[in-house]
Amino acid sequence: MSFELDEIVIEEGCRQSALAARVLSRAPAGVPVDFAADARVAVRPLPGAADPFGAGKRRMAVMRRRAPFLMACPAGSSEFACCGYLVLVLASNCPMDCSYCFLQEYLAENPGFQVYANYADAFDELERMRRRAPGRVLRVGTGELADSLAFDRLTGISRDLVEFCAAREGLLLELKTKTDEIDNLLTVDPRGRTLVSWTLSPPHVFAGCEKRTAPPTARLAAARRILEAGYKVGFHLDPVIAYPGAECDYLALLDDLFDTIAPAQISFISLGGMRMTPALRAAARRRHPQNPLLCGEEVLAPDGRYRTFTPLRVGLLSALERRIAAASPAISRYLCMEPPSIHRRVLGHAPAPAAALGAAIAGR
Ligand code: SF4
Repeated sequence: MSFELDEIVIEEGCRQSALAARVLSRAPAGVPVDFAADARVAVRPLPGAADPFGAGKRRMAVMRRRAPFLMACPAGSSEFACCGYLVLVLASNCPMDCSYCFLQEYLAENPGFQVYANYADAFDELERMRRRAPGRVLRVGTGELADSLAFDRLTGISRDLVEFCAAREGLLLELKTKTDEIDNLLTVDPRGRTLVSWTLSPPHVFAGCEKRTAPPTARLAAARRILEAGYKVGFHLDPVIAYPGAECDYLALLDDLFDTIAPAQISFISLGGMRMTPALRAAARRRHPQNPLLCGEEVLAPDGRYRTFTPLRVGLLSALERRIAAASPAISRYLCMEPPSIHRRVLGHAPAPAAALGAAIAGR
């Protein structure tokens, strides 16, 4: 996959960094390169742009991260069943453009595509965290504020990270993507400590909502190759979008998945219904006015998010759960950002504690 850039901005203090050198040597010819004393200014919304968020996706800033790299998953909260995921922020924003993406709200004030030249500091944070939790497997992912592999051909960060985790017990790295950009990963032995997960959607949702992502068949083909290279694999059917014919489409997608990857080789499948805060819904509808998939049957839930009408959502998630269980009851599965009541109705039991779920995923 290749993504276009309008501009690369290098923060002055990062001119000599290895990341800046890699990006500049691999960037497509003709992309303008500028330098800024403080790139935080360059990642703000472009004044006068018709779509400042979209414009930010095309402006890459190589800069120093001032905040910690490790944080709790923004999806986690006491209201929802949680999978115990820790987020490692190595980039911010994404060159793809999914119409439902929460970044449209979350990064509205800082939409520039940021990559952090001091990312080696993240390894020190990880090491400290690992030492504080002996005997536990920490599930750490980079795919929350960015796609883990988009632009990896420019940055090459995934390779360093996989090698770091491969050498340490107690870490399970999760790279989450909608690309098929796996070439760098194929050159490293993960020693069982990296899992690559793909978000899967039926062709109808891909075509309607997931601009510039790899087609579903390409994602599955990449998953097959990465599994053969010694990585674990997992899948997210999230968000599951309700529309006429959705159940049939999502079940066919699961059939394609199980035809490509044997159920016993899948570390987990997560499911989650479509949900949007009012601000996200407004931003998404403004940026993607022609998308009927953003105008489903929704109600404002007690958590302040618009969610698919509960009977519709439970029916759809339950049908998927039955198909997964029929393929293999042993596949770990969980619901993302759903309350325990929905968990019980769909999965038939209360959510597992975060540590137990993480350990189950790590063990498979
Ligand atoms: S691939 Fe992920 S991060 Fe990128 S736009 Fe889509 S949902 Fe957002």
